Amino acid sequence: MLHYDARVRPDIAAGTVDGRVQLQVRASREALDAIELDRDGLVIDAIDLEGKPLRFEQIDRRVIVRLPEPVTRGEVFRLELHYHGAPRFGMQFHPQRGQVYTIFSTSQWLPVVDAPDERATLDLAVELPADLHAIGNGSLRDSSAGEARSAGQRTWRWRLETPMPSYTYGFAAGRFNEVLSPHAGVPEADAAPRPLLRYVGDGWSDEELRGVFADSAGMLAYFARRAGVAYPGTEYSQGLVAETIGQELAGLSLVSDAYGREVLAAQERQTLIAHEAAHQWWGNLVTCRDWTHFWLNEGFATFLAATWMQQRFGDRAYEEAVARWRARVEKLDADGRDRALVFADWSAPTGDDRAVVYTKGAYVLHLLRTELGEAAFWKGIGDYTRKHQGGSVVTRDFQQAMEASSGRDLSAFFERWVYRGGGLHAEGARGVALGRSAP
Ligand SMILES: [Zn+2]
Repeated sequence: MLHYDARVRPDIAAGTVDGRVQLQVRASREALDAIELDRDGLVIDAIDLEGKPLRFEQIDRRVIVRLPEPVTRGEVFRLELHYHGAPRFGMQFHPQRGQVYTIFSTSQWLPVVDAPDERATLDLAVELPADLHAIGNGSLRDSSAGEARSAGQRTWRWRLETPMPSYTYGFAAGRFNEVLSPHAGVPEADAAPRPLLRYVGDGWSDEELRGVFADSAGMLAYFARRAGVAYPGTEYSQGLVAETIGQELAGLSLVSDAYGREVLAAQERQTLIAHEAAHQWWGNLVTCRDWTHFWLNEGFATFLAATWMQQRFGDRAYEEAVARWRARVEKLDADGRDRALVFADWSAPTGDDRAVVYTKGAYVLHLLRTELGEAAFWKGIGDYTRKHQGGSVVTRDFQQAMEASSGRDLSAFFERWVYRGGGLHAEGARGVALGRSAP
């Protein structure tokens, strides 16, 4: 998939969506005669190839499109799909608040290839009631009443120019107040271009929005330095929405109003904002090849956020995070729920499985930091991120980068902590004592 050009119309009161999407596809194998897209429960109404209607089948949560004749490997073609449906949870509707926003499961509101190792650019247009304000992927191009199909509607258009996996596509709309923070708080010495920051929320004053997201510029500068890669885009939008556990999208993050209030009252609560910002590199720009290596997204974002907290609030903040991680790993172990970080199957994860990927993942990165020392560890993180930016990764890629930066064979460490559960008790591995070490 090279590019999606999507036009989406949510109906907030009805909890439904309809739309059309043009796909630019390059045949990845010889004699390609069909392609499959994920559609979840969406109903596909029509598909055409360069204006000619195509046959298609909707089986389970996929649509299989039959091409009229096989396409040669490397050839590029364009399909257009028209669809409608009622997303189960991938698009959240809050009619009382006038809010609509997306949550991860893109195929519930837009037919896509829903695989973390497929990345494409995106033009996203969303038609919304004219009194709403929206944020979306990449850069805002315009918002105008001209193109809307109904009176009282306005179309918002964004362009995502860095190819990203489809699960990071989305937008949020509501009766939002917006504050722009161009390049605020960025250290002078840091010459890299900085994104325009947008903060939005309903019922939030300018001053409050600036307060909640006060450290965003500093976070982005910090993560860019750790990654050795500039922020991938020209804008970063953050929204406060009715209800979410927190979510990263390409160039965009959403957290809840309730959480925003906590941060406003105590800046030490900003870890989740940092976690979502870290995903702009670890998760979005460097993405696990499949969900069995999900810890490369979530363990990294959790760990990197704690290192931001260390930089912002001092060593104590980091040590407290490590102590919490350690306690959770011990609990997993005591309950017999500790598992390898590389999962065999991530189709129906439990809360304990999430704790393995997020919390143990972060803890293992902390152990590796302790084991290798600051210089080799951070050089390895930077080398890994630069090498794999715009691509997908497996755990072996990370191990190789850390072995190269440290000049050490880390197979025993990875065997103990990453490829198997029960690392707290493993014998014979190098650096056994580090399980109990202080940060
Ligand atoms: Zn995350």
